Amino acid sequence: MIPIAIRGIQLTSLVDFPSEVCTTVFLGGCNFRCPWCHNADLVLRPSVLPEISPAEVLNLLIRRRSWVQAVCITGGEPTLAPGLEEFVRSLKSRGFKVKLDTNGSQPDVIARLLAGDLLDYVAMDVKAPPEKYDLLTGTRADLEAIKESIALIKNSRVAYEFRTTVVPGLLEEEDLLAIGQMLAGARHYVLQQFRTAGTLLNPGLRELLPYPETTLDHIAARLQPFLAEVEVKS
Ligand code: SF4
Repeated sequence: MIPIAIRGIQLTSLVDFPSEVCTTVFLGGCNFRCPWCHNADLVLRPSVLPEISPAEVLNLLIRRRSWVQAVCITGGEPTLAPGLEEFVRSLKSRGFKVKLDTNGSQPDVIARLLAGDLLDYVAMDVKAPPEKYDLLTGTRADLEAIKESIALIKNSRVAYEFRTTVVPGLLEEEDLLAIGQMLAGARHYVLQQFRTAGTLLNPGLRELLPYPETTLDHIAARLQPFLAEVEVKS
């Protein structure tokens, strides 16, 4: 029995794994408290959500293999789950591609997964420039760990993206440029539009209006000199 608590599953997703149709698996719990996070139950109260066993998920995936051959593991923060590596191995050994979504706080876990050739894609959230990391994560974030994860991913052979949710009022244009400097030389960076869907950790942010798309396009253009590809996602 793999020691991992799966708290949600989306059987078919066209958006969670670039160029793949995937099944998305949600793990509960997180060490960050990003005020704009829209998965409050998954982060704060994962035990109120029904638990799905890894065996059940594997059986589902195998039954549906002719339609879906890729799995996105997201959270919460998946790298906190003790059974993550075993779960990923069980997927890879059955021929599934695996994408990991992470906040980058556990570089040792990311290093082990990369060294074991267990990942096909990594998406790491880079929440803020260094001086705003605590504000945007609602915690005392370990910046050295974040920088180590960035370096590990940037220097890996695996396809990846770094991404930032552009929270209006908390992140300004200059903050995004500072993040661009942190990621200098990265192959792929995504500016993710702020959304108010789901249950926000800080419901007060529900009234915030996202930046206009033209603002994000303008910031993306200013980031181009540091980064190979900058994408705006709404
Ligand atoms: S958005 Fe922040 S709080 Fe929510 S799951 Fe991701 S890292 Fe955790």
